[in-house]
Parts: sequence; C-alpha cells; structure tokens
Amino acid sequence: TAQYDYDYDYLFKLVLIGDSGVGKSNLLTRYSGNEFQVNSKSTIGVEFATKIVKIDGKVIKAQIWDTAGQERYRAITKAYYRGALGALIVYDITKTKSYENCNDWLNILNSNLDNDIVIGLIGNKKDLQHQRAVPVEEAQEFARNNQLLFTETSALSNENVERAFDELINSIYQNLK
Ligand code: GDP
Ligand code: MG
Repeated sequence: TAQYDYDYDYLFKLVLIGDSGVGKSNLLTRYSGNEFQVNSKSTIGVEFATKIVKIDGKVIKAQIWDTAGQERYRAITKAYYRGALGALIVYDITKTKSYENCNDWLNILNSNLDNDIVIGLIGNKKDLQHQRAVPVEEAQEFARNNQLLFTETSALSNENVERAFDELINSIYQNLK
C-alpha cells in the first residue's frame, strides 16, 4: 500500500499543454485535489501535482506538470518535457482557435521528445454545450489520425476528468509490459 509519498513501484511524469485559458490548471486541481478554482489566474509557482494510482496491484505515482503561464508565449522550456511518458493536449470546446492550435502543440511536443509517448487530446469545458464551437466528431477524427486518446471533460462539473487522466496512465502502464 502507498502509505507514504515515496512508496511506489513506478513514477510517471505527465505534462499538460495547450493554449492559455483552456482549463489545464483546473483539470489538474480537480484530478489531484478535487477542487475547482473559479476565475483562477495563471498558475504561479506550482510546478506539478502528484496522484497515486493502482493498476494490477502496482502503485504508480503520477507526477503531473502544469505550466506557470509560459504557454501564452509558447515559451515552455525543454526541461518541461524531459522524461515525460505521457501528455495531455487540452483545448476549450467553445474556442475554435484553441482546438486548431492543438496541431501546433502536437508538433512542439514531438520536437521536444526523442521517443514516442502516449498523448491524449482533451476537449475541456464540456459543460458549456450552448457555446460549443468544436464538433466532437471533428476532434475525434483528428485524434484517430494522430493516434491520440480522446476525451471531452469538464473541470467545472467534474465530468470525465478522472477518466481522462486514468486512461493516459493506464495506457502508459500497458506499454511498459
Ligand atoms: P489554463 O490557463 O489552461 O491553466 O486554464 P485555467 O485552469 O486557469 O482556467 C481558465 C478559466 O477557465 C478559468 O476562469 C476557469 O475557471 C475556467 N474553466 C476551467 N475549466 C472549466 C470548465 O470545465 N468549464 C468552465 N465553464 N470553465 C472552466
Ligand atoms: Mg494554468
């Protein structure tokens, strides 16, 4: 059992990327602490959160990195990506531009990594259905064509958040075997 922080079988570094304002920090807060921050400003100081997940009796410590607002200037350093085993590229389903930019984020990710990693595409703010600008089918197809996992989430209503992170972690674990 993972009674203590250092008591784990595997350490998985995961990174969150995507345009500013899409909800990356709130997704992470939800997943790691189940709390929603209304009108949160860009994350300052917080570099990552951790979560313990158990698969097949193994204890996996997921260390999930969040940007401190550098994504606004596409100025995320190479160190951010180094050693990552998984990534979540997040867009806002009400902002077409944030979805279109996922292709750039995918390229940035690949250019910063030497090996293939597991990548998930996340359409966040699923609760804002009346403002939807990105059809789910379109994102699904983009994900399929690029071999990405895909989930629509809401950090606000806490829908599919755990599923999205757990799917990524599960997929990394299956690849290890
Ligand atoms: P980041 O810049 O990608 O880290 O985005 P933040 O997590 O800081 O969120 C940006 C804004 O979107 C904040 O005002 C959040 O309250 C809001 N937000 C985040 N997730 C959701 C969501 O699922 N639904 C709604 N309606 N708003 C959200
Ligand atoms: Mg943030």
